[in-house]
Amino acid sequence: MSEIKTQLVVLGAGPGGYSAAFRAADLGIETVIVDARDTLGGVCLNVGCIPSKALLHVAKVMKEAKHLSNHGVSFGEPEIDLDKLRSYKDDVVGQLTKGLSGMSKMRKVKHVKGYGKFTGSDTLEVEGDDGKTTVKFENAIIAAGSEPVTLPFIPHDDDRVIDSTGALEMKDIPEKMLVLGGGIIGLEMGTVYEALGSKIDVVEFLDQLIPAADKDIMKVFMKDYKDKFNVMLETKVTDVEAKDDGLYVTFEGKNAPDEPVRYDKVLVAVGRKPNGKMFDADKAGVEVDDKGFINVDKQLRTNVNNIYAIGDIIGQPMLAHKAVHEGHVAAEVISGQKHYFDPRCIPSVAYTEPEVAWVGLTEKEAKEQGVSYETASFPWSASGRAIASDATNGLTKMIFDKDSGRVIGGAMVGTNAGEMLGEIGLAIEMGADAEDVALTIHAHPTLNESIGLASEVYEGSITDMP
Ligand code: FAD
Repeated sequence: MSEIKTQLVVLGAGPGGYSAAFRAADLGIETVIVDARDTLGGVCLNVGCIPSKALLHVAKVMKEAKHLSNHGVSFGEPEIDLDKLRSYKDDVVGQLTKGLSGMSKMRKVKHVKGYGKFTGSDTLEVEGDDGKTTVKFENAIIAAGSEPVTLPFIPHDDDRVIDSTGALEMKDIPEKMLVLGGGIIGLEMGTVYEALGSKIDVVEFLDQLIPAADKDIMKVFMKDYKDKFNVMLETKVTDVEAKDDGLYVTFEGKNAPDEPVRYDKVLVAVGRKPNGKMFDADKAGVEVDDKGFINVDKQLRTNVNNIYAIGDIIGQPMLAHKAVHEGHVAAEVISGQKHYFDPRCIPSVAYTEPEVAWVGLTEKEAKEQGVSYETASFPWSASGRAIASDATNGLTKMIFDKDSGRVIGGAMVGTNAGEMLGEIGLAIEMGADAEDVALTIHAHPTLNESIGLASEVYEGSITDMP
């Protein structure tokens, strides 16, 4: 058994872990990062954000190319080479993980590959291919992330039942696939498979897809998706039976089919659970709740003074950019800076087509919290750029504090909505009001003009909306 002594060990090399490790190293802290995977990047780079976006890019271009036949340019039926598509996705991932590895070496952050478990409040034992390594640390940051939720009545050991990682492997293109769960990950993967030719059914227990988003936003989304997916809302799956010729799924609820339905594949996308119970946190004295989450204070410190936690493992929203910012704060606090994590808003984006994006308060949340608010929207059917780009199915909605006029939330649905959301996030963080946004000159013609225009609607300077 070898032993390493370090000022900081980071457990988990996802966006939270590598961001924390790099920031710590930049601040002069000797840092070791432990991850069981061969490559840095965690779920996000290896089996999450990045490979899904590579495939969604291809799906989007395919749809656009098909659509062009309406405007006099036809390309014929697409021919799909699944091996090439897979290697494109793997190349994208490879470029980024290689980049991370370079950045890690540059900073002299040591990657210990293997599975880590605490053996005390200053020791972690890592079991790797080359045996065991004891890492003796002054401080630790737990960034061990999350994994997909499984359901007891589903035969997860059948290889026709897949989770997001299985879906990203793209072993084949099933003729008929059920997406179990109408959240962001399920809809993104369903979008990819639909573009490649699968017939997609989506079942969601609640009364709308992407339940966190506002209803008016999802209404616009559904205009496109009602033809892409067969959506069964307010319905649940009660049984999945694996037979030789397929998976037979029994449904219950408002839109449940009477008989079990046969699918070639079932993608289970019902959320993610934190990995808190998998590395003997108790041996370090770190408290983990029943669900596997770790509680932290605003400086990301656990109940043990020298141990911090960041990313998916400390709670919702389980998003890469949240993990990155938390990672920076934890490293800065360890270096002695008096920083804390307290953002006004964290953006959420579904990279479907159209994209669904929101930041700050949704209208639903404003109502629940009893906030006095007003909304103003700009439909993309009135946007020159949207009309010229065949992207009129979109809406930009701003939410303002009724008393001060300050921007407290915003949502967009439409092509590239996620790219434009940053402006609303900045407005919220800077305390901008409707007038500030309305008077900011946006380039014409752009889709993000709609943010200025929605604010002008609020200000009353635009009244004749279509
Ligand atoms: P993770 O990325 O989960 O990394 C944790 C790492 O720790 C893993 O590599 C794991 O192997 C390692 N680990 C855990 N325990 C141990 C141990 N005991 N020993 C050694 N190693 C260990 N988020 C977005 O913001 N945008 C998106 O577009 C987006 N798309 C997604 C698409 C999919 C299909 C999925 C599944 C997720 C997506 N997410 C997205 C969510 C995002 O991936 C996570 O929020 C993010 O990766 C969390 O980062 P993290 O640092 O907390 O941990």
